[in-house]
Amino acid sequence: MEELKRIIEEKGKVLSDQVLKTDSFLNHSVDPAIMDHIGREFAGHFRDAGITKVVTIESGGIAPALMTAMHLGVPMVFVKKARPITMDAPLTASVHSFTKNRDYELCVEQGLIEAGDNVLFIDDFLANGDAFKGILTLLDQAQAHLAGAGICIEKSWQRGRKTIRDLGIPLYVLASIRSMSDAGIVWGQG
Ligand code: 5GP
Repeated sequence: MEELKRIIEEKGKVLSDQVLKTDSFLNHSVDPAIMDHIGREFAGHFRDAGITKVVTIESGGIAPALMTAMHLGVPMVFVKKARPITMDAPLTASVHSFTKNRDYELCVEQGLIEAGDNVLFIDDFLANGDAFKGILTLLDQAQAHLAGAGICIEKSWQRGRKTIRDLGIPLYVLASIRSMSDAGIVWGQG
């Protein structure tokens, strides 16, 4: 998606050869117009997949997931990274955070994802695929089916892509980074 790549080049900050900061338009401050276009793009790609629910993880995935759900005309559920006291007997999965380098517990209220749901997972970044694997664990517990994964930005040298493809899950990525450094971003799959 050329528009997303342009915004990343204009507003993204390469913090290291492993981490890209996109806080000014994607996962802290959010650009509604680009989120609308991202949602339209994912919805168009998965339009015929019979999606019943879009699922993401708070907080970076919420904006693109919501817009995707709106364009598909289905509900969106965001999985939480900390369990509120109001949440009774949630479904849970342990996940390693790439950006925070610690483990945390994903949790979702029982019943929000139902047996038979045909789920599209949307996230802001794909790195090692740990968030994806956590979602898969939750969906298994809910007896829901994962129909596909839509990722805004992948760092293609990390192992997330292989994890998803090895499971045979359809993957649609809007912007693939082959490598990045102070000199800039090289687009493509590594
Ligand atoms: P994974 O679980 O695939 O290793 O990492 C994906 C998650 O880590 C995403 O949900 C995203 O929040 C975060 N993440 C991974 N790499 C980056 C990055 O380069 N920049 C930002 N802002 N977040 C990242």
